[in-house]
Order: sequence, then C-alpha cells, then structure tokens
Amino acid sequence: MRQKIVAGNWKMNTSFQEAQALTSELMGMAGDEVRGDVKIIIFPPFPYLYSLKAQLGTNARIEVGAQNCSEHAAGAYTGEVSAGMLKSMGIQNVIIGHSERRQYFSETGPLLAQKIDGALANGLKPIYCCGEPLEEREAATHEELVKTQIEEGLFHLNAEAMKKIVIAYEPVWAIGTGKTATTDQAQEMHLVIRKHLASKFGNETAALVPILYGGSVKADNARELFACADVDGGLVGGASLKSRDFIEIIKSA
Ligand code: PEP
Repeated sequence: MRQKIVAGNWKMNTSFQEAQALTSELMGMAGDEVRGDVKIIIFPPFPYLYSLKAQLGTNARIEVGAQNCSEHAAGAYTGEVSAGMLKSMGIQNVIIGHSERRQYFSETGPLLAQKIDGALANGLKPIYCCGEPLEEREAATHEELVKTQIEEGLFHLNAEAMKKIVIAYEPVWAIGTGKTATTDQAQEMHLVIRKHLASKFGNETAALVPILYGGSVKADNARELFACADVDGGLVGGASLKSRDFIEIIKSA
C-alpha cells in the first residue's frame, strides 16, 4: 500500500500571524475530521518553520517541510538554508525542483540531484517535482521532458534511496492558473512516471513511490483526481492557504 499524502505549499504567502492562525485551524480540523492514514504536510516559508513546528508540538497528524534547500552543506552562501539546518530543527520534509524554482531561479537537473542527495543524507523526505510547460504539452513532447526530469534528479540513486522519495507531477500550465489536468491526463502521466521508475529501479520499488498530483487542486476536483489508480494524493498551492478548503481536499484522499 502506498502512503496517501496531501501537502500544502504556502509559497511566499502569509504573515507570521496568519501562518500561526492557519496552523492552529488545521490542527483543530485535522484532529476532528481527517482519517489517520493520510499524511498531511505543510510547507510554510523558511522563517516560520521552527515556530510552527513548536506550535504543532506533539501533534503527529501534521508534518512540516521546507519549500527548498541549498545544494551545499554549509559555508559562505548568503541567504541559503541547508538540509542539515532543517534537520537540526526537526523538519522532516523538503520540496525539491518545484517548477517556480526551475523557472525563476534557474534550477537545473544536476543541481537538483545534488539537493536530493543533501536531503537524503540528512534524513529529510524529498518531494521531487516534475512537470511540463504548456508548449511541451502542445508539441506532445511532455512525456519525454518529464522522463528526463526524473532521470536528471533521481536516476543516480539506488533502489533503497528511491523508496525514500515522493514525486509530485505538476504540469506547469495547471499551477496557479485554475486550469486542472483532467483525470485521464493525470493518470496517464503518473503511469508514465511509474513505468519509467520501474525501468530503472524495478517494479517493487516503483510500486512503493507515492506520486502526488499538483496544479490547481481544489476541494471540488480533488476527489476525482485522487481516485486515479496512480495518483497518491496532492501537492496543493493556493487552496492550502484556506484551512477549510485544504481540509476538504485532505478528506478527499
Ligand atoms: C504548487 O505550487 O505546487 C501548486 C500546485 O499550486 P496551485 O495548487 O496553486 O496550482
């Protein structure tokens, strides 16, 4: 059985006070309404991580993650945050290779492979993002592109390390646009990814890797997306900033 996961990527949103309020609403609602077998992860901005982790205390229902980490372990890299720093604060998860980092911060496959290694070396669970821009989908080159993204970021791992990875398939044309992939499009790409993993790591490993869908997931489309055979939950941006919407999405998993 693959782990079902619903993760909220807050991006560069919320004041500290809003982040505290959102966390406290989620704690209450998750405890009362959500089944225990769905893993919930919130990805707040870096400066709030430690405080929100403390606010969650021993609440095991909600994990905390960082939206990025440096490829370096330590040193003169002003403004950067390392995987080891995250680990030292008790952070369990990290998003690597989000399309906004690829697009706005020029993050490339080899760099992302280094970040994956740093995260794993520090015991963090990476959510590795992949997904095609609209032009690639229109040119019908999206499968090849996503396979290349998977190869670049993950194919240097061995099967044991691969079992520690979560993948998020996020078509760029669906992120923050209100345009969601159809269930057929999502299932098709998740299967492409799983088969590609199987070709490298074997069927047993590929069957264990959770593959999340991301791209304008909302309370009213989550259920049908999460019902797809190879969709194991979601990475949610905008809708994770409203506690009621996020909880309804989690309940759909
Ligand atoms: C995301 O940022 O990963 C995302 C999927 O955003 P949204 O849900 O807003 O499309």
